[in-house]
Amino acid sequence: MREAGKIVAEVHHEMEKAVEVGVTTGKLDKIAEKCIRRYGAEPAFLGYHNFPASICASINNEVVHGIPGLRKLKEGDIISIDVGARLKGYYGDAAATYAAGEISAQAQKLMDVTRASLQRAIDEMQSGKRLSDISYAVQSYVEEQSFSVVRNYVGHGIGEDMHEEPQVPNFGLPGRGPTLQPGIVLAIEPMVNAGSWEVEVLDDQWTVVTSDGSLSAHFEHTVALGNNGTEILTSTDLL
Ligand code: MG
Repeated sequence: MREAGKIVAEVHHEMEKAVEVGVTTGKLDKIAEKCIRRYGAEPAFLGYHNFPASICASINNEVVHGIPGLRKLKEGDIISIDVGARLKGYYGDAAATYAAGEISAQAQKLMDVTRASLQRAIDEMQSGKRLSDISYAVQSYVEEQSFSVVRNYVGHGIGEDMHEEPQVPNFGLPGRGPTLQPGIVLAIEPMVNAGSWEVEVLDDQWTVVTSDGSLSAHFEHTVALGNNGTEILTSTDLL
């Protein structure tokens, strides 16, 4: 899982460099797929429930599951890129939101809060804590910052399958659910909207958008809990 996670981190490193005004989401997808295959891994999203690409590319009011294509990034856009890789039977999964050119103060705050909420969640991933302590950490922080957390989509366990039990909601009261123990690996992924938490799915059956048209951001890491604390398997800091 460490190896799979590192490949996902490599992809994000490349996305960070490639996101710019004028680039198409289809081009970003090609760069990501090439990177995954260069390391002998497989794109986990390609063909998953017939999804047609290696990344999800979700721009501005799009929350998750956007399909890459001919759309070009414009000055001020934010784009959430989610990517998964499978190597030797194990999965890694991570997402991040990137800025194209100069973005608004609100977009910047949304990105900062969403990234920070993921870190707060990871900080809760300790032996003996309960699963929903993670959920509560995200929701309480995000709402304190006057944003909202998406309810319809959640994080998940990950390992030999991309989506395993348990589900990891980004909302809820603390002190509930399974007790965290060394050996658990979770994909924690706060999806945060600048407006209301409500979302809908477009006619393409994939793209999830905010119902009120507000901006949305998404950060995700695959995180392992070991005997000596957490290890962020998809961290770009390790590259
Ligand atoms: Mg995920």
